[in-house]
Amino acid sequence: MHWFAALLLYCPFFCINCQSAAKFPNGLIYTLPVTEQTIFHKILARAIPAAIVTEDDEVLAFKDIHPKAPTHILFIPKHFVASIADVTPETAHIPGMLILKAQKFAAEQGIAGYKLTFHVGKGGGQEVMYLHLHFLSEEKLK
Ligand code: AMP
Repeated sequence: MHWFAALLLYCPFFCINCQSAAKFPNGLIYTLPVTEQTIFHKILARAIPAAIVTEDDEVLAFKDIHPKAPTHILFIPKHFVASIADVTPETAHIPGMLILKAQKFAAEQGIAGYKLTFHVGKGGGQEVMYLHLHFLSEEKLK
């Protein structure tokens, strides 16, 4: 195997989720990593800013950049799942965990009434393919 192909295949930064083929000048085709990070991956990595309202080992919550209510927070799990449609028996606890975090957040904020929504897939209005829970309330944060 060509040394460069080996480097790409075994590089620790190699993306296991997604690959694409690229043709090099010598005619050989190599597999290249493709970064398919969503905007929420970047917020989680602090690569782009967000108005974070709460965080723990499992969840990050931040203000929606285009709020649809006086309070509009997004809760995302730190373990990546693209959508409710991709939840498996191994990750089935994640939606419930997000709901519990939202419930705790509401209690801490003294917010009595709120809506929780998951958009599922493009047809369900999901634009960012990183599972997230919308928390909307007519009540404002403290
Ligand atoms: P959804 O349509 O369920 O995928 O919701 C994605 C939400 O992410 C939308 O309500 C957007 O306004 C919100 N959003 C997109 N980019 C950002 C960002 N950089 N910071 C905060 N919220 C964002």
